[in-house]
Amino acid sequence: MTNLIFENKWLKVYKDGAFIGVEVLESGAVVFAKEDVETGCWNILSHRNKTGYGFITTKSYRGNLHRYFYLKHNDIELPRDVVIRHKCDNRFCICLDHLETGSNKENIMDRDSRGRTAKGVTANKSKLTEKNILEIRINKTDSHSKLGGVYEVSPEMISNIRHGKFWTHVHADVIWTPEFSSQFKTAALEKVGKKSGENSGCSKLTNELVKAIRINKIDSHTQLGKTLGLNDRTIKLVRYGETWKECHADLIWTQEEIAEFVTGKHRGWTLK
Ligand SMILES: [Zn+2]
Repeated sequence: MTNLIFENKWLKVYKDGAFIGVEVLESGAVVFAKEDVETGCWNILSHRNKTGYGFITTKSYRGNLHRYFYLKHNDIELPRDVVIRHKCDNRFCICLDHLETGSNKENIMDRDSRGRTAKGVTANKSKLTEKNILEIRINKTDSHSKLGGVYEVSPEMISNIRHGKFWTHVHADVIWTPEFSSQFKTAALEKVGKKSGENSGCSKLTNELVKAIRINKIDSHTQLGKTLGLNDRTIKLVRYGETWKECHADLIWTQEEIAEFVTGKHRGWTLK
């Protein structure tokens, strides 16, 4: 029986017993492989060149198939000098779980030290490797705090890495864009809001945001929303105390403040 086991905008991966079929959506090619039940390796059957490596040409790419799979599976791009290596040491394998990024050790250490000196992170004595940096940036679901726990660094450090303040010299292409950052913040707020809005749990992030939103009596809902990556309705509800009643309740806007804001009196406007 054929099962679709992975799908994104680049690849569709099917499995039928021990046989694997990977549809390369960009070119329409289908790559075949067979699973080795003992090792879990997907040994490539089609698209092999003389050296045994899978090889593929598409509109955007020409080169080793396992590299193409890794990049498209994770939907990322990587500089040429970041190699994709086989964890299983089997060069015929295209199993997505068996692939990882790497360079030779000297190369990594060399660049680490260069990077630290150049970026002034010497004092930080970071234990993170290039691979970690990539993992941190391509992870777009876990919070800064959660990942901070995993890698034993502060949430601020995770945020800085994701936003490219540190380690700018490696995996620069997966640094978070300001747009994505806003979406991430909104999603985090909504997640926490749904969970604790009713139950009075005030997470630190949200607690601070609520305060910031209510203290600001100058910007329009839309303007502030833009700055914080939230929609104007969220801003309005927070300011008027219709959500997050339990957090900074003393800062909820009073009827007078709302009236002033609406008429623009606080900025010296007058309604015609
Ligand atoms: Zn393998």
